[in-house]
Amino acid sequence: MLPIERGLEIVMSTAKAKQRNDWMPAESVALLDSMHRVLREDVFCDADSPRFDKAIRDGFAVRFEDLTAVPAVLTVVGESRAGLAADVTVGRGQCCEIMTGAPLPPGANAVVMVENTERLSPESVRVLKTTRENEGLLRRGAEARQGDRILATGRQIGLADLGLLAGVGKSSVLVSKKPRVAVIATGDELVEVDQEPQPGQIRNSNTYTICAQVKEAGAEPFILGIGRDNLDDLRSKIRYGLEHDLLLVSGGVSMGKYDFVETVFAEFGVDVLFDKIAMKPGKPTVFGYRGDTYVFGLPGNPISTMVAFHMFVRPLILFLLKAENTTPKTLEATLDSPAKCDPQRAALVPALVRFESGKYWIRTAPWKGSSDLVGLARANALIMIPRGDGTLDAGQSAQFLLME
Ligand code: AMP
Ligand code: MG
Repeated sequence: MLPIERGLEIVMSTAKAKQRNDWMPAESVALLDSMHRVLREDVFCDADSPRFDKAIRDGFAVRFEDLTAVPAVLTVVGESRAGLAADVTVGRGQCCEIMTGAPLPPGANAVVMVENTERLSPESVRVLKTTRENEGLLRRGAEARQGDRILATGRQIGLADLGLLAGVGKSSVLVSKKPRVAVIATGDELVEVDQEPQPGQIRNSNTYTICAQVKEAGAEPFILGIGRDNLDDLRSKIRYGLEHDLLLVSGGVSMGKYDFVETVFAEFGVDVLFDKIAMKPGKPTVFGYRGDTYVFGLPGNPISTMVAFHMFVRPLILFLLKAENTTPKTLEATLDSPAKCDPQRAALVPALVRFESGKYWIRTAPWKGSSDLVGLARANALIMIPRGDGTLDAGQSAQFLLME
């Protein structure tokens, strides 16, 4: 059985070796639609930022030299407001009323806060505190210069990036197209969410968790419905699924008598590169490709399928999107209680993590195995125990994945 790391290496090297245009093409989208998408252009400042020396306080633009002895009374010679600069020069003993975001008038070199002043009359103000040069203002270009590269291709656009894109005049943005991902659930026992299960039946939950993960990773899911555990039904669904960028089939990949998914993959000429991973949950994870389509058989158990997606499918989607970071982000915590694990397989154990005294503490959450969504919903993390480590003791440190 392959260790997780080796499985991931196979997925990524397959994607890298299929050198065609394996990266998704780029498309232009409206600014607001670019949130969380992967940027496919370098973005440069169209002007200095800020564009002019500007006040970052409401108060008075002054010459700091006039305030070496305070209180000091200054003559108010004008008003500079956001969007409308004052047409004055601040001379000795003078100041200009100014608002946050307004251009600093020539002659002034500091802004004193209104809180540190007393207005005596429309023409005069008493300043109560001294100031230093450049206090209360930002000089032109202090944040970035015209022509500076502020965002690089491969960046996943976050909230600050979106604001930045707006600020430099990008009303549309070049991002990676979303890969099209076909999602098939399999099983004779499955009924749809709005149906009442008869004896022996359960509702299909994998389709929904998988589609949510597909969306979160930045791809577009296509629900192909439930494939029944017979060759004909699986053939027709998988045939259609193979017309997508990725095909994800959940269930039907274990050793059961009615697990036909791998048989049908083989019939369609899918080149299967692995079909078992040394991890728990998630052992029967299948990966291969046919032509331009990447194919995964994900284990049927709800938690196994989530974990396998996170470990293998998500990094592949991010790679295809040309994202700069593709690896799952882990954090480190100290174990509050032992975490049991079979040394033969890496384990992902549902856990509860908290932040206290400057670090993360983690303990395993009660759960009843890889179908227990109730237990998983009460957890907020997965402890990752590498293969070979076996049981970890309380006080040891462990890597974990945060689950949101
Ligand atoms: P399988 O890998 O097909 O043997 O499925 C393993 C377990 O996962 C069985 O208990 C199935 O009933 C369950 N399972 C399979 N597919 C789904 C699904 N789409 N939603 C919820 N449970 C499922
Ligand atoms: Mg099944």
